[in-house]
Formats: sequence, C-alpha cells, structure tokens
Amino acid sequence: MKTIPYGRQFIDSTDIKEVLKTLKSNWITQGPKINEFEGALCKYAGVKYAVVVSNGTAALHIACLAAEIKRGDEVITSPITFVASANCVLYCGAKPVFADIQEDTVNIDPEAIKRKISQKTKAIIPVHFAGHPCELKEIHSIAKKHNLTVIEDAAHALGAEYKGSKIGSCKYSDMTIFSFHPVKHITTGEGGAVLTNRKDLYEKLLMFRNHGITKNSSAFRIPHSAFVGSWYYEMQELGFNYRITDIQCALGISQLKKLDKFIERRREIVRIYQKAFSNNRLFNLPAEKKHAESSWHLYVIKLKDKYRNERKQIFERLRNKGLGVQVHYIPVYLQPYYIKLGYRKGLCPKAEEYYKGVITLPLYPKMSISNVKRVIHITKSVIRKFKK
Ligand SMILES: *Cc1c(COP(=O)(O)O)cnc(C)c1O
Repeated sequence: MKTIPYGRQFIDSTDIKEVLKTLKSNWITQGPKINEFEGALCKYAGVKYAVVVSNGTAALHIACLAAEIKRGDEVITSPITFVASANCVLYCGAKPVFADIQEDTVNIDPEAIKRKISQKTKAIIPVHFAGHPCELKEIHSIAKKHNLTVIEDAAHALGAEYKGSKIGSCKYSDMTIFSFHPVKHITTGEGGAVLTNRKDLYEKLLMFRNHGITKNSSAFRIPHSAFVGSWYYEMQELGFNYRITDIQCALGISQLKKLDKFIERRREIVRIYQKAFSNNRLFNLPAEKKHAESSWHLYVIKLKDKYRNERKQIFERLRNKGLGVQVHYIPVYLQPYYIKLGYRKGLCPKAEEYYKGVITLPLYPKMSISNVKRVIHITKSVIRKFKK
C-alpha cells in the first residue's frame, strides 16, 4: 500500500487552467499576476500591503532586512520551528536568541521572551506553530515597551484567526510572512509573502526583493540632472533576486480561492482524529485555546511520559505500516551548525522535553476519509502493542 504522507498539495483542473492561461500570455514573470496575487492576499488577511517572493525563507530574510536587523543585534524566536525562522537572523549577521515554549500550544512563551530581552534585542519572530496563533497581544505589548519589531512567522498559519482577526492582518505586529510550499495551506510550488500595514516597510520590501533597485523617481538619491532619462533606476541597497513568477502567482490566486475550503476540510479531519483518539492511554492530543482558531497545518500527538522512551519504535512502526509520520521539530539550536556557533543543550528545557515525545500524523485537505480511518486504525493498533 502507498504511504500516506504527513502533508501534500491539492491541485485541481481550475488551478491547471489558470497556470496554462498565464503560460500562453505575454507575461510569465513580473506581469499582472504578481499584483493580483498580492491584492488577493491583502483582501483575505485584511492588511494594506503584500510583497510576494520566491519562498517563505526569502520572505523572512527581506522582512529582517526591512526591520534593519544588523550585526550586533539580537532577535528572539522559538526553538520549535523550521530552521528558516532563525536562519534569517543569521543572514543579517545578527544573533538568534531562543525563548522557551508554552507546553500546551508549543508556541513561544511571552514570559520567556521577557527574560531574554537585552540591550541588543531588536525584534521578535513568533512562530504560529502548527497553525495555532501565538499570544500576539502579550508579545505586541512587550515589543512596544522595548521598541522592538515583531515579524510573525505564519508559514503554518494562513487562514488562522486570533481574537477575531485573520493572521496576516498585522494587528499586533509589523510584518507577517507566509510560505506557499506544497505542504503549507496553499501552494505556488515555491513561494512566500510578507504582509504589512506600514508603507515605509512595504517600500523597503519591494526594493530588497529586486536587488535593492528602485524606479520611483521621487525616491532617487542622486539629484536629477539633464542626463537622467526614463531608463534611469537606482540601486540603493544590497538586495536580492527574490522575485516570484506570474506562472506561480496564477496558481496562487487560484489556490487562495479554495483556502477556506481547505481549512474547513483540515478541521473536519482533526475533529475525526480528536474523537477517535480521545481517552487513549498512549498520547495527548493537540488543543485549541479559546482566543484562537487554528488553521491546523499539523496534527501533532505527544506521547505520555511513560511511553516517551519508545518514541523511536512507535515512529518506525507507524512508518512501516505506511504512515508518513514526521517529527516537528528538532530544536533549532541543537542543529550542528548552531552548536558550532556556541548554542548548547539545556537552553530551552521545555522545547527539549517536547521534542522527545512528539509525532506528526498525516493531515491535508485532499486526504480521503478512508485514509483518515486507516491512520486511526494503524495508530490504535500500534498503541495496543505498547501495554504498560
Ligand atoms: C516552511 C516554513 C518556512 C520557510 O518557508 P519556505 O517557503 O520553505 O522557504 C519558514 N518557517 C516555518 C515555520 C516553516 O514551516
């Protein structure tokens, strides 16, 4: 039998038609689909500006550049995330500082953030783990008090809501980034976006996406002279080529129209899991806080204490039975590259404890109910083998 992956894309014939239309048009990159996708994202999230880029990591990088994160600065983020959330800080020559997580949501703990603030702190990058929104109000008030920039890493959380506002509205942050990798909520193959309500940041983001170049004459630094014509542009910063194509944006626009359905489907599958696994002896289930509506990017189970030593066997057994289970995530600072930089075990004890006992079960909108049932059946039969 085919392995059921932990996540995958949902592409239909409408998506394919839209991509083909763009392929047959005059613009395959930097055409009308870029602005159209940006506009659609703004409308969906309820925010003023969006800048779409080649991937979520590029989005994080230009967000850090726009926030003027530089050598000598510190940026606080979560250890339980994909490496990109911290790597973007290193790209700027600054230092990622890891604040421990809350046990229930697995999100960065505002109290832990407070303890990590120093004279050098410049920004906070909270990550909405598995699609469950962080304590944004608390994080926002800490940031205001210390004059810090907040960049939400919402790679997991497109479509999630916090206290009635969509993640991406930037109500409690300066910028929010999304990823459109195929395992995320909508896909453009590779792709990402930065959203903001601040015009100053928006203009910087546009520049950093495109080599630091501006064609906006009112922003030119070299005074106009006779020789300057309409060909003229200025490179004012060291930017990058983080552009995304019209082909990808055509797919993104079409995908975004289905996002609410995708999330509804994820919630439906989660409800089935929660019911089927309630009161089991082996593991605890993920929970949703009152103020939050998760977009359920991941369904992560936590083995109870007495089974945590068996995580490896349980994981391998699930894999052998055709479940593409995963572990999200190894604490970032335990990666060899980070150890080489001087980070050590013991830095975030809750994150390390969490990591020892978790398994991600398959969850994606295209999952059939028969596959959901297969996951439940296999997981339960594996549980039965571990009597204690
Ligand atoms: C996927 C992901 C990213 C990076 O996105 P890419 O599009 O793969 O570059 C960043 N942060 C988190 C938490 C992610 O899951």
